[in-house]
Amino acid sequence: MIERISVIYGKDIESMTKALLDTDNTASRIESKDAAIVIKPNLVTLSDPSEGATTHIEIVETVIGYLKEHGFSNITIAEGSWVGASTEKCFEKLGYYRLRDQYGVRLVDTKKDKFRKVEPEGIAMEVSETFLNADFFVNIPVLKGHCQTLMTHAMKNLKGCISDKSKRDFHKLGLDKPIAALSTILHPDLVISDGICGDLDFEEGGNPVETDRMMAARNGVILDIYSASLMGYDIEEIGYLREARKMGLFDSAEWEIKELSKPVTHSKVPSRAVKRLETYTAADEACSACYASLIRALKIFIEEGGNPPRTKIAIGQGYRGKHTPIGVGSCCSKADVNAPGCPARTNEILSMLRGLR
Ligand code: SF4
Repeated sequence: MIERISVIYGKDIESMTKALLDTDNTASRIESKDAAIVIKPNLVTLSDPSEGATTHIEIVETVIGYLKEHGFSNITIAEGSWVGASTEKCFEKLGYYRLRDQYGVRLVDTKKDKFRKVEPEGIAMEVSETFLNADFFVNIPVLKGHCQTLMTHAMKNLKGCISDKSKRDFHKLGLDKPIAALSTILHPDLVISDGICGDLDFEEGGNPVETDRMMAARNGVILDIYSASLMGYDIEEIGYLREARKMGLFDSAEWEIKELSKPVTHSKVPSRAVKRLETYTAADEACSACYASLIRALKIFIEEGGNPPRTKIAIGQGYRGKHTPIGVGSCCSKADVNAPGCPARTNEILSMLRGLR
């Protein structure tokens, strides 16, 4: 089956979230007004969303407002921060107690939840009953880098649905297989991806890359495969996607992209790590999604031992119709060497850089 992935660009997080929900027609998919709806943001640690680690609360708030408007009232926000971090502190400092009080939703720290012992693919784990008992599950991950798994997004965000003991066990088992196994028993009904400014390479944030993109899909595994290509990776490079294929979570990955808007211009002051990579670029009215792809491609290319070209890489709408030696995106189609796309994807830019060696 071909999975529909809706993509929207911009800076107005509320209206972007609303557009994704309307396109998905989410309200009509929930069978009963009493359905137990569970929303899972990423609150891995106490870090402001602008740092690239945690879900923007505006997305969660818009989802709640939308559900309430459509007459749903049995709504729970559930999350368990990583081992060593207090979920309750994250709830407090990141505004989740306000959401609870303002909208009358339930807030569950999964570290303190009841767990059911399950053993998907022969891997023992304790999974939060709140998620296992949900009638409709909305997963709201951040698309960002990860120092061990390279990428963290929809599938890996499910790690917040297990006990701290199981989180430790996952690490002992090398993460990939247990992450994939968890996706055989937890199936979010809707994934809304927060790709506003996910971190370059750490799940705890600190080096956000302004991307200004959100996505929505009903199949988190397929969304992760597509997102991996946005981050510069193919299925074989992401261990938990390799394992997911072995477990039969997909055989062929097919999707159609429904673009709800066009990319918007890059504007944010970069972090130090991103600034270093920017020295290899010459941007002129570059859109943030395209620019983020270039920054991620440069990072991977340098890490694999590549030397960035001496000529700066042109990117942005200011290059339309102009000749340049190297350029990224359809705006730079007149470049001698070009990575196509609007926005260009990290894997396409990486191919271009590797071809220059
Ligand atoms: S190709 Fe041009 S218009 Fe398209 S995303 Fe890139 S910079 Fe923006």
